[in-house]
Amino acid sequence: CGIVGAVSNRNITPILIEGLKRLEYRGYDSCGVAVHQGGALRRARSTSRVAELQAQAASDGIASGTGIAHTRWATHGAPAVRNAHPHFSPGAHAPADAAGRVAVVHNGIIENHDELRAELQARGYQFVSQTDTEVICHLVDSLYTGDLLEAVQQAVGRLKGAYAIAVFHRDEPERVVGAREGSPLVLGVGQDAATPERFLASDAMALAGITEQICYLDEGDVVDLQLGKHWITHLSESGRFEQVSREVKTV
Ligand code: GLU
Repeated sequence: CGIVGAVSNRNITPILIEGLKRLEYRGYDSCGVAVHQGGALRRARSTSRVAELQAQAASDGIASGTGIAHTRWATHGAPAVRNAHPHFSPGAHAPADAAGRVAVVHNGIIENHDELRAELQARGYQFVSQTDTEVICHLVDSLYTGDLLEAVQQAVGRLKGAYAIAVFHRDEPERVVGAREGSPLVLGVGQDAATPERFLASDAMALAGITEQICYLDEGDVVDLQLGKHWITHLSESGRFEQVSREVKTV
């Protein structure tokens, strides 16, 4: 139901959690946060309030400049911690409890999840949730060859349905990639030159007090967030993703 993401050179965990609190009024049944910390993916998830998630993340020492967070309104799979986002993919032929390589949060519905799940299972991916979302992280993992933007661009070409997603990868510590089709997603541009940072959110309101510089992404956009820079790409008529520029507005 809500997404927040960030790439910064300061600890953005409090910003992600504060962003989720600003989206709480929309309703949700569970929530979660994942960050890139110490070369690994770490997360906290809860079927309780965001305040509970915040306490859990604090006691687990979750802190990083790169992360994504989510409030879930379940469409596929009961409200439960195992179905709460972020979802991880540990890769094909890995035990289900192996360390994650790809982390994903998602708003919306993937209509062809059954077909994609069967295909990914046949390639050795183990599913641990009942969500439609989990296909996205295994799909990105299966397409990853060292460039997260490319993997997400290819993955969205396989997805049918409505989505806003935010993704990061263990091997690219200062990068978050977002994409949208049928669900809202905005890019936030950091305002302090000394703190090069970029944000993603399903609603600009989640970034209130953090940045007023907002770029509304178009349907079909895939956006690459890095430290102090971003690229927005869009599928052109030639069937290739090309860089596009979108106006940054002060809200
Ligand atoms: N379909 C996804 C799920 O059930 C995402 C729901 C949402 O938009 O929060 O987990």
